[in-house]
Amino acid sequence: MRYAILSDVHGNLEALRAVLADAASRADGVLCLGDSVGYGADPAACVEILDRRARAIVAGNHEHGVAGLLGLDWFNEWARAAAEWTRERLDDEHRAWLGALPLTNEVGDATLVHASPEAPEEWDYLVTPEEGWAAFPFFTTRWCFVGHSHVPGVWSLGSSGPDFEPRPALVTADAGRRYIVNVGSVGQPRDRDPRAAYAVWDVDAARVELRRVTYDVDAARDKIVAAGLPRFLADRLAVGR
Ligand code: ZN
Repeated sequence: MRYAILSDVHGNLEALRAVLADAASRADGVLCLGDSVGYGADPAACVEILDRRARAIVAGNHEHGVAGLLGLDWFNEWARAAAEWTRERLDDEHRAWLGALPLTNEVGDATLVHASPEAPEEWDYLVTPEEGWAAFPFFTTRWCFVGHSHVPGVWSLGSSGPDFEPRPALVTADAGRRYIVNVGSVGQPRDRDPRAAYAVWDVDAARVELRRVTYDVDAARDKIVAAGLPRFLADRLAVGR
């Protein structure tokens, strides 16, 4: 079994379609780590595709913001403007779907969570090596897949000590080691690489490949501008930060 693991699609339909096309021959199923909406111009289309395609999905802070479960004062000004815009573009059924997603999920030997397994509803970021290592006591599976920071990274713990890989491409699990993998963002990468990011988890081979996919950034940018969303949200897509 091989899963395509997608996080932080953020209403970017062009990036989502490109990633699903890339994953078509590489994965048998789709898992989603949340923040399907917010920032991008196609929240309803992304929700409908992910609802249809994802075998397991968890909520992100943007789902909770749009569904009314998280106060919008939690967000910065761009995220707040995007959440208000997104809320109006979704119907009651979409908003109910967003609000009903679980905060964590388990698939095989993996935990899925948007932010941190320690307290998923606090939306803490795992960025530094130490922040990732400190999260290991809070899940019991071998793998934990996260998103939220929009920056790929791999933390691991085992008898030979802790490790952190900031620009991972391929992770092959060592016996006795456990892993936290940030799969990066499909719809709004922030590691200075504008290509869409996602991961392919080969369950039987105990291997995770972190992939990047070129997509039509200009089309996604133009839609954000035409929608009247903050210009900054369009421009940052071109530079991937
Ligand atoms: Zn996000």
